[in-house]
Amino acid sequence: MSENSSKQTPCCSSDSSGGNGRGCGSASSGMDRRSFLRKSAVAAGGLAAVVTAMKPLMDLESDEMPSVEKMLQKHYKEMTPEQMQGALARISDEVEKRYDVRPDIKDIKPMDGVEFVYALNLSRCVGCRKCVHACVAENNQSRSPEIQYIRVLEMPVGSMDMEKGNQHYQSELVPEKGKFYMPVQCHQCANPPCVKVCPVEATWTEPDGITVIDYDWCIGCRYCEAACPYWARRFNFTTPEIPKEDLNPTMSYLSNRPRPKGVMEKCTFCLHRTREGKMPACLEVCPTGSRKFGNILDPESEVAQILKRNRVFVLKEDVGTLPRFFYYFDERSPSFPSEPSSSNKASS
Ligand code: SF4
Ligand code: SF4
Repeated sequence: MSENSSKQTPCCSSDSSGGNGRGCGSASSGMDRRSFLRKSAVAAGGLAAVVTAMKPLMDLESDEMPSVEKMLQKHYKEMTPEQMQGALARISDEVEKRYDVRPDIKDIKPMDGVEFVYALNLSRCVGCRKCVHACVAENNQSRSPEIQYIRVLEMPVGSMDMEKGNQHYQSELVPEKGKFYMPVQCHQCANPPCVKVCPVEATWTEPDGITVIDYDWCIGCRYCEAACPYWARRFNFTTPEIPKEDLNPTMSYLSNRPRPKGVMEKCTFCLHRTREGKMPACLEVCPTGSRKFGNILDPESEVAQILKRNRVFVLKEDVGTLPRFFYYFDERSPSFPSEPSSSNKASS
């Protein structure tokens, strides 16, 4: 990790976005699965590579196979509003059948003039992991096996090397003396290696800076997981399990709708909330105010002011991913919280 003294505002680059014709590249016309696979066969160096990439999909049991409707569904960027309505109705039926709840599911588009960034104050984070669990609940992550998008690393004071962080700390009371805490999640990179390696364009960056995944298009090859330098992607090795009573019925197509076995998922800055003017769930639950989020294109926004006034840094700046996730310390009291307090119980 290194400091980003220039406080550069990342912008969406068309070559890295995967393209969607809405400001971050353009979709190729007439895309269907066959043309994607033909294209990926060339890109990956042959049919054998594509077959290998599709192996997780081919290994599904018959009752896990996607429906014909789903298989024939167009790529997200190619769907007409009517086709999207059909897809949302199909997903609603599937969710209702499985969870006995009729979800409120939408396809929420990015807002014009908005590019989201996150800023996290490491002087304030106490490592309680409330953000981790709020994220799981909000985003309908599997409880068994457990999937979490946010990793909170317990770091030795004095080190900024995330490889020295311990994600599995068990301290009952936090913060532990001599430690500080660094939450890591998808950094919504402006130059995302995960997008570049996807052989079927199932993942791309939206105009508001959020990198998304179309779960109906993902073939589960896990190339993106390997490419991410922040270990921000999670793969569903088995069918995710969520207790019916815990399902969050407010959903969107590109974020927290339930995922099937064999696909990739990750943080989307809670786009079903943030594109409707709310804050991400992880920010709302944070008891210390460590998390700040907003529109970097609005110079008056709190995050724009933080990036302007503080020495911010990004993780692994040297790998050139241009994260939209910044870290900083309080300038006036750069010390870490030192005394454990009973009000900050860590959950596992
Ligand atoms: Fe992709 Fe990882 Fe960057 Fe997120 S943090 S955009 S998953 S490379
Ligand atoms: Fe493979 Fe990731 Fe693309 Fe899914 S999103 S197809 S796992 S590279």
